Amino acid sequence: MQVREHVALAPLTTLRLGGAAGRMVEVESEHDLMAMLGEAQERREPIFVLGGGSNVVVSDEGFPGVVARTAMQGIHAKRDGDRIVVDVAAGEDWDALVERAVSEGWSGIECMSGIPGRVGATPIQNVGAYGQEVSETIVSVRVYDRSAERFDALPACACGFGYRASIFKRNERWIVTSVRFSFLASSDAAPVRYAELARALSVPTGRRPSMRAVRQAVLGLRRTKGMVVDPHDPESISAGSFFVNPIVSNDAFERIAGRTGERPAAFPEPDGRTKIAAAWLVEHAGFPKGWSLGKVGVSRKHALALVNRGGATARELLEAARRIRDGVRDRFGVALELEPVLVGCSLDSSP
Ligand code: NAP
Repeated sequence: MQVREHVALAPLTTLRLGGAAGRMVEVESEHDLMAMLGEAQERREPIFVLGGGSNVVVSDEGFPGVVARTAMQGIHAKRDGDRIVVDVAAGEDWDALVERAVSEGWSGIECMSGIPGRVGATPIQNVGAYGQEVSETIVSVRVYDRSAERFDALPACACGFGYRASIFKRNERWIVTSVRFSFLASSDAAPVRYAELARALSVPTGRRPSMRAVRQAVLGLRRTKGMVVDPHDPESISAGSFFVNPIVSNDAFERIAGRTGERPAAFPEPDGRTKIAAAWLVEHAGFPKGWSLGKVGVSRKHALALVNRGGATARELLEAARRIRDGVRDRFGVALELEPVLVGCSLDSSP
């Protein structure tokens, strides 16, 4: 287990801002995890678990305790009839797993190509894109349960998966150590459900193109939105989507539509409510693509991403986020929920 003191966190996050960790531990096994937890308890240090750093905002003061970086590796696949059951350690890179799935004919996660971060982070907010969500292929999530003080494998039905939600989100009780997936053994993608993706592939929705074609199309779409982390793309110095797409009642939807001349695209939810694009609300509340506040701003490629334009502080970023959240609330009466995890700071008090 590698332990270092006073480690700068900014280079370990895709937003590239924030202070340092008191201590940083590279957790390479469940044994390391136990050792790290025991030591932190003895020293009475708070713990923060960091994966790929693609969904976090670290305060300018950093984190005074121990940052545990999930570095466990290992992918084990087993055939089960027409399915492939794959155990993936939490520290594996998510997009490398998707690339492997496409190459090996493990169908079910190809639409989630190009998402940064590590596998262990994906169940936390039930990551999804272009019509797929990880919860559709997850069988179980292996965790360390800090309350019960033991390892446990939680079946998907016990994980409370919802739209970008699970029982793990904003809850320190569980630390994910590996995820078990079940994929369909096929080189065809799952049926395309997302209109934008179907257009990019020039196929009708419901069609099953090859997984390779779907992966290429998704990567292309994400690049046009600055949503593939790329050192050559300044619009990708972000935490991806900064706000969750809200699900609102039909009354709220009509009220929102009434405030502008335009109706936002609306997507019906199984419970009768309507999902709308947070990016549309942000733009129509007066924060268009390219809007700036000092060294931060709204991405020029996607109104849902806040970008560090170079040398920004967490304080500046949170000020921009606050103005946008309040602007959307005042204009449309919708309370936007933040997608990234805030470390040592909050939106309503200075970082
Ligand atoms: P987008 O395609 O502009 O879509 C905006 C909103 O419209 C989202 O709420 C999306 O739902 C919904 N939508 C669009 N077409 C739909 C369809 N055919 N059926 C149902 N709902 C539809 O979104 P974007 O911001 O550019 O992102 C592209 C994809 O990446 C989206 O799927 C988005 O959710 C995903 N993404 C996920 C994360 C994450 O998991 N943390 C972060 C960034 C982006 P959905 O959100 O259900 O797709």
